[in-house]
Parts: sequence; structure tokens; C-alpha cells
Amino acid sequence: MDFVLTEEQQMFQKLFRDFATKEVAKVADQVDKKEEFPAKLIKRAAGQGFLGAFAPEEPYGGAGLDFTTYTLLVEAMAAECASTALTLHVHNVLALRTLVKHGTEEAKETYVPDMVMGDRIGAFALTESGAGSDPTKLRTVACREGDQYVLTGSKTWVSNAGAAGVYIIFAATDPTVGAKGISAFVVPAEADGVVLGGREKTLGLRGAQINRLYLKGARVPASNLLGGEGAGYKIALETLDYGRVGISAAAVGVGRKAVELATRFATERSQFGTAIANKQAIQMYLADAYTQVQAAQWLVRHAAWLADRGQSFSQEAAMAKLFAGRMAGDVTNKMLQVHGGAGFIADYPIERYYRDARAMELVEGTSQMQQLVIAGGLLGPLGVKVKP
Ligand SMILES: Cc1cc2nc3c(=O)[nH]c(=O)nc-3n(C[C@H](O)[C@H](O)[C@H](O)COP(=O)(O)OP(=O)(O)OC[C@H]3O[C@@H](n4cnc5c(N)ncnc54)[C@H](O)[C@@H]3O)c2cc1C
Repeated sequence: MDFVLTEEQQMFQKLFRDFATKEVAKVADQVDKKEEFPAKLIKRAAGQGFLGAFAPEEPYGGAGLDFTTYTLLVEAMAAECASTALTLHVHNVLALRTLVKHGTEEAKETYVPDMVMGDRIGAFALTESGAGSDPTKLRTVACREGDQYVLTGSKTWVSNAGAAGVYIIFAATDPTVGAKGISAFVVPAEADGVVLGGREKTLGLRGAQINRLYLKGARVPASNLLGGEGAGYKIALETLDYGRVGISAAAVGVGRKAVELATRFATERSQFGTAIANKQAIQMYLADAYTQVQAAQWLVRHAAWLADRGQSFSQEAAMAKLFAGRMAGDVTNKMLQVHGGAGFIADYPIERYYRDARAMELVEGTSQMQQLVIAGGLLGPLGVKVKP
């Protein structure tokens, strides 16, 4: 494995970081305080090609990024605004990539160009009130009627809902066979019967719009089915492998910036006649935190590298997510401590990083679900079936 990014990846990393520090940083605080979806910023990001990460250049005008380069995008955005990173990530990996990989030609022609341009933000609706860690218990159903499917049910925790122009929605086409009866559909926001529910009041990621969604007999053409009837669960699992690596990259961005903020603060704040940066306890905190961030980064790089080589990476994605999710919580907590009381007030950005980091252990599978995947990989070959 090469530990150095290619020249092209380094060029993209610079582009992403420049955009993040010039454009994202200036709205991040307001996005959080006003709990405002950054619509104009997302449109500017589309102008840079950041909403077409996984669409090929031909025929869709996408950026056609490799997965390693994509993780650099999410990391750079999350370092300034984790809400913006989540928005771009859900759009690119959970919605756009899923459609490009599994959609019919008709569905791709209809939605992908608009998604790349940022005219249709993507969302992904798997979770329901009774189906979180166990998505086999979906109660949303899809029935075939002629050359259409009719979807009925309700979804919770739909990131980008409301702002979205297109949803990837999972529903049971055969509720009697559990996971094998789940199918995935691409559903335009304007379809009759797609009804936006209330927005969640969240601890962090307050600029990400997360709503409930109701499907009241929403009709879509049969060509909006992804991968065939019953393929939905497999599509969800495959998508979540990529999704987990992306969230881990966001956790790295949050952790890296938290260390930078605390390092700077430690040189500016004096107590006992000297900058607190001169105190060994503070130096140890910074050293431990930076080491944790770097370790998480290598787990992300390794998982992305495997993905780019077409190798299996489910276990590596789970390990990256488990470690990086915990790292983000622990590192932001330590870096808040370096700030003392200043870390507890909204005048300093570290409290936002601390709140945002908490989601990293929850979104796209909790830490406990990652542990099950990892344990399954260890024990499975020895004949022990790891069950949730
Ligand atoms: C910020 C954010 C954004 C999200 N965005 C989306 C989105 O865009 N689309 C979407 O579909 N979903 C989204 N989700 C939902 C997310 O995927 C779920 O919250 C997650 O899968 C956990 O489900 P749950 O909240 O129902 O928790 P539950 O499944 O109810 O779990 C509760 C607790 O029990 C533990 N637990 C459950 N089963 C087991 C077991 N077998 N062994 C050990 N422990 C167990 C869990 O780890 C957790 O600690 C989002 C969530 C968050 C926080």
C-alpha cells in the first residue's frame, strides 16, 4: 500500500480544503446557530462538482471520483462544518452512488444530471420508527399496480429531507420474507403522496435538515425500482459499507480541526504566568488526541484503498467507523477540556464540534452494530454465527 496520495488526489485535497476554508467556514457558525440548511453553499459546492462525486463525466457531467479522493472531500468539509459534510455525503454516497450503480438507464437519465447540478439533492430513507438497527422490520410497503409501484408507510431520520429533490426509499415488496422481500426505489420529491413530516431537533448537526417522511400512496414508474424486486437489503448493506467509511472521514475532519482549535487556544490562554501550552498536562492531551486522529485517518485510508481496488472492505469499514466515531467523541471532549470554561460557551466553535461529534457513533449504524460486523468476521470462519 502506498501511504502517499497521488498527485491528482493531492490536487483535489487542496481544492476541497480551499473551498472549505473560504466558503464553508464563513457560514458554519450561523448554519448551526440558526439551524439553517445551507442551500446557497450547497449550490456553490455543486458549481465545484462536489455533488457529482460518483457520477461519471460521460454522460452525466459528474466528477467520477475514486473513493479515496471522495473521503478527502468529506473530511475537508467536516473540518469546517459537519452539517455540510453530512449533507454532501448523504447526497453523494447514499443517494447518487446508489442510483448510478443500481438504477435503470431511464431513472439515471431522469435524475442524475439534476443531482450533479445540485438541482435535486439526494436523500436516503431506510430507517423507520420500528426499524433502526434492524432494518429488516420495515413496515413501509410497495405494491405493484400495472407499470407502477405504490409506496405506503413512514420514515424517520431522513437526512436532507425537505431540501431533497429525490429520495432512495426502502420498502417491503414481500413483507412475508423479511430481508429478502425488501426493495429500493428512487422517488422524486414532487411525486403525489410524498409528504414531508416534522424536522428533528438535534443535539448537533443542526444545519443538516433531518425530517420524517410520509408515503401516502406515492406512485412511481416501475423503472424507478433499483436492482430488481427483493434486492433492496443487499443494496442497503453495500451502500452502508461506503457510507460508514465516509462518516469515518467526517469524524477525522471533526477531530483534526478540534485539535487545531485547542492547539491554538493553548498558545493564547495564559494561567500561572505562562501560556497553558507550556503545561505538560495540556501537551499530553494534544499529543494523545492528535495520535487518535491520525490512527483513525489510516483506518479510513485503508478501507477506501480496498474499495478502490474492488476488494471486500465491510470489516475495514466497520473498524474505521467504530474507531473514528469514538475518536471524534473522545477527541472533541479532550479539546473542549483544553479550552476550560471557554469550551462551554457558544462564543468558541469547539462546543459545536463536541455536539456534532456525538452523531458519529450513531449515524449509518451504531458502534454496537460495527462491533457485530467485526466480531462476525473474526468468529465466522471458526463456525460461530454472530447474531444481533
Ligand atoms: C444524525 C443522524 C442522521 C441520520 N440519517 C439517516 C438517514 O439519512 N437515513 C436513514 O435511513 N437513517 C438515518 N439515521 C438513522 C440511523 O441510521 C439510526 O439512528 C441507527 O441505525 C440506529 O437506529 P435507532 O436510532 O433506531 O437505534 P436502535 O436500533 O433502537 O438502537 C438503540 C440502542 O440499542 C443498541 N442495539 C440495538 N440492537 C442491538 C443488538 N442486537 N446488540 C447490541 N446493541 C444493540 C444500539 O446500538 C443502540 O445503542 C440517522 C441518524 C442520525 C443520528
